[in-house]
Amino acid sequence: MTLNPAQLKMQRLIRMEVGDHASVDLLTRERKTPMTVVLDHAERGVGPCFDIWWVDGGPPSLACLHDERRAHVVFNTRYLEVSAQARSLYGEKALDVDAQAYRQALRRIAEQLLAVRHPELATSVYLESIRAQRVWSTVGTDWHLLEYEPLQEPYMALWFFGLLHEIGHFAAPRLGGTLVALDADKIRRSIDLSLNRHPWPADIKAQIQALRDDAHAGHVLHPDVLREEMYADIFACSTLLPATMDVLQQADQPFDFWRLAYELLIMGQVRHATDVCAAFVRAIASEDDPQQAALLALAQPIATTVRNMFCQFYLQQAGCAIYEPASGVAEHVSDLLERIVNQVQPLADRIDNATGKAMRRCLALAASPPPAAVPDWFAREWQTAVVKVPLVEAMRSFCRMAGSFGCATDAIHQMEVLIDSQT
Ligand SMILES: [Zn+2]
Repeated sequence: MTLNPAQLKMQRLIRMEVGDHASVDLLTRERKTPMTVVLDHAERGVGPCFDIWWVDGGPPSLACLHDERRAHVVFNTRYLEVSAQARSLYGEKALDVDAQAYRQALRRIAEQLLAVRHPELATSVYLESIRAQRVWSTVGTDWHLLEYEPLQEPYMALWFFGLLHEIGHFAAPRLGGTLVALDADKIRRSIDLSLNRHPWPADIKAQIQALRDDAHAGHVLHPDVLREEMYADIFACSTLLPATMDVLQQADQPFDFWRLAYELLIMGQVRHATDVCAAFVRAIASEDDPQQAALLALAQPIATTVRNMFCQFYLQQAGCAIYEPASGVAEHVSDLLERIVNQVQPLADRIDNATGKAMRRCLALAASPPPAAVPDWFAREWQTAVVKVPLVEAMRSFCRMAGSFGCATDAIHQMEVLIDSQT
C-alpha cells in the first residue's frame, strides 16, 4: 500500500517510539475479519476518524496519537503477547501463578527499560527472569498462535479491549451526552474509596491524597486524566459488547454476556500489570524528580482500582439493559458481577504482590554492578538445557529489541553469540 506524505510522517514518528526493528504498517480493511467488524462498530459511533497502525515488535505498549481531526492508534503485537501471558494466569489450568507472575513482571520491566535506554539494568533484569524459570521450554507466547484461539468472548476481549480503549481516547470526548457525566468531586471520592482498599502506610496515603488534590500537573490521579481513561474504558466496553454479539453470531457461536463481563474485568487487571511496570520504569529512569516519579508509580494501582470500579458500574447497567425485558434476572445482575469480582480480585492481588517482588529485585539489581557478560550460571545452564528453542526465540526478540533501541552491552552481544551457535 502506498502511503501519502502525512502517513509517511506518522510512520516515521511511530518508528522512533517503537525502535527500528519493528515493522510499522497501516492496517487495511479489504478483507472481513473480527478486527474489521470491531472497527466498523467503533466507526458507527464516531465516524471514520482513525487509522490503525499495526506494529510487529517493539516494547509492549499501545498508544493513540491524535490531533483535532484524526486519531492514529498504535496496535502492538508484543502487547498482545504480553497480555495473553498475563491473562493465562487467570485460567483454570494456571500453575505456579506467583512464580509465573514474578517472571512475567521481570520481563515486562526489562523490555520497558530498553525503551528508555537503560540497557545494563534491562539485561540484568532479563537474565534474572530466565534464572527464575525452571523449565526453559515455556518461555513466551507467539501472537500468531493467538489468531487460532476459539472465536469466543476471551478472544474478543484479549484482541480488542486495548485497541478500542485507545480509539476511545480520541472518540469518547466527542460522543458528548451519551456518557455519564463525571464531575471532579465524584472522581476524588472514588479515589478515596480506592485508597481504602490498599493497605498502605498512612504517610503514603496522605501523599497520594495530596496528589489527588494537586490540580496542576497532568498526573494519573488528576480528575481530567482519570476521566479520560474511564471514558476510554467505557467506549471500549460499550463497543465490544455489540461487536462481540455480531462476530459470534456470524461465527455461529452462542453469546454469553457474563463470560464477556468476566473477561473485561480480567482485562482491566491485565492492562494494570503492564501499566504498573511502565510507571515503575518511568520512576527509575526519571532524573528530574525521582521522589515525585516514585509517588506516581504508587498512584498507578489507585487509578486502576477507580477505573475498574467504574467498568463494573458500566457492566451492571449493560447487564440490566440486556436482561430486564426478558426475565427477573436484573435484580441478580449486581450480585453476579460482585461474584465475578470476588473471583478475580484475590488472584489480581497475588499477581500484584509478585510484581512488587519483581520491582524490589530490580531495585536490588540496580544497586549492584551490572554483569560484564552473561553470568556463569547462565552459561552452565545453557550447556545442559535440553530444550532451547523457545528460549532462543525469546532471547532473540529481546536482543533484537535492544539492537533497535541502539542498546548494546557485552552481555547482549554474548547472548547473540549463544543464539547464533544454535542456528
Ligand atoms: Zn488510556
